[in-house]
Amino acid sequence: MPTIKDHLINIRASVDAALAKAERNNENITLLLASKGQSVEKIEAAIKAGVDTFGENYLQEALKKMQALSDKKIIWHFIGTIQRNKTRKIAEHFDWVQTVSDVLIAERLDQQRPRDMPPLNICIEVNVNQEKSKSGCRIEEVPALAREISIRPFLKLRGLMCIPEMTENFTLQCQSFKTLRKIFESQKKLYPSMDTLSMGMSHDFEAAILEGATMIRIGRAVFGDRN
Ligand SMILES: *Cc1c(COP(=O)(O)O)cnc(C)c1O
Repeated sequence: MPTIKDHLINIRASVDAALAKAERNNENITLLLASKGQSVEKIEAAIKAGVDTFGENYLQEALKKMQALSDKKIIWHFIGTIQRNKTRKIAEHFDWVQTVSDVLIAERLDQQRPRDMPPLNICIEVNVNQEKSKSGCRIEEVPALAREISIRPFLKLRGLMCIPEMTENFTLQCQSFKTLRKIFESQKKLYPSMDTLSMGMSHDFEAAILEGATMIRIGRAVFGDRN
C-alpha cells in the first residue's frame, strides 16, 4: 500500500510537471492538505513528509486537531462554510480564512481577531460558474468585498479561491480557473497584498496550475478516502 509520503512524492512530481508545462519553472506552489475527515496520525505523517499547511472545514473537528497537534508548527486555513456564530473561534484559532464571501463575515472576523495576533489572512471565495446553491460570492461582488477587506486593520487580503463545478473535462476545468485568474489579476493591481490564487483540488490541480494557481488544496489524492 502506498503511504502518505509516497502520495506526496507523486503529487509534487505532478505539480512540477504542470509548472514546467505552464512555463512557470521558477515558481512555487503552496501545497495545502485538506485534512477534513482525516486522522491526527495521517496529518502527523504528512508533517513528517514536509507539509506545514493544512485546511479544515469544520470548526469543532479543527479545534480538536489543533490541540492534539499543538507542539507542531502548522499554518491552519479555514476552508469550510462559515456560520456567523463560529467567526470568533475561527478568528482566534486560524492563520487564514479562504471562504469569505460577504461583508458581514469579514467585519466579524476583523472585530474578533485577537489584537495581539497578526492580521488574519483572507481569501475571497468566488462562485466562478455562477452556480445556484453554491458557496462563494458572485463575480460582480468581488470588487466591493475586496475593498471592504482591504481597509480592515485586522484582516489582510491575500487573494481569491474557488471550488468550480465538478467536471473531469480538462478544457472546462481550465475555463473556470481562467475566470478566477482574470478577476485576480485585475484586483491585484489595486491591492498589492494579493499574492494568492487558491484553486485546484485532487481531480483538477493540473488545470489550475496551468491557469496560474499559486496554492492548491489536496485531500483524497494524499490521504485517501475520508471518514
Ligand atoms: C475537501 C476540500 C478540498 C480537497 O478536496 P479533494 O477532492 O479531497 O482533493 C479542497 N478544497 C476545499 C474547500 C475542500 O473542502
